[in-house]
Amino acid sequence: MVTGKPFLTVEQIQSRVRELGAKLSSDYEGKNILVVGILKGAVMFFSDLTRQISVPLSMDFLIVSSYIKDSTTGNVKIHADLREDINGKNVILVEDIVDSGLTLKYLYEMLLERNPASLKICALLDKKSRRQVDLQIDYRGFEIPDEFVVGYGLDYEDKFRNLPYLAIFKKVSG
Ligand code: 5GP
Repeated sequence: MVTGKPFLTVEQIQSRVRELGAKLSSDYEGKNILVVGILKGAVMFFSDLTRQISVPLSMDFLIVSSYIKDSTTGNVKIHADLREDINGKNVILVEDIVDSGLTLKYLYEMLLERNPASLKICALLDKKSRRQVDLQIDYRGFEIPDEFVVGYGLDYEDKFRNLPYLAIFKKVSG
């Protein structure tokens, strides 16, 4: 089940996304950027965030999976790679949530080998206490406790992505 009360409300999410968009717009003023969304989880965050960025941008996507039900495996499967050549570009990797950090670390290193001019990470949620690898999150929405959350693009067995807010997911037996 999903707990009734939003963990982060629509208003809290939108307000933070506006702040992140403003920060990115000022940090990249006068530059072009390529914003890479990591699907499926970042779908909502990506589309809200990019609409808050005022510098010229292109979009591209990676479709990956790293989770079997609700446990991190550390296995990253790339279902669809980028269509753009990122050589010489200012790339921002947009992720829904960082847990162990294994997924983003893997993707970060994979993209770094393609010689972007710069590569930064923007993640909506950070479960910092769960981190297993050293990873710099350049733009972070919220640091959250070790709870399994769904909504705003995040799923449990591919459900709940369309909740407009974030909720804590709890399994009930029986
Ligand atoms: P990591 O590799 O950092 O351990 O895991 C990252 C991926 O695990 C995220 O992209 C997301 O798909 C999934 N994940 C981690 N924590 C949660 C959570 O609380 N809820 C959901 N729905 N997915 C999570």
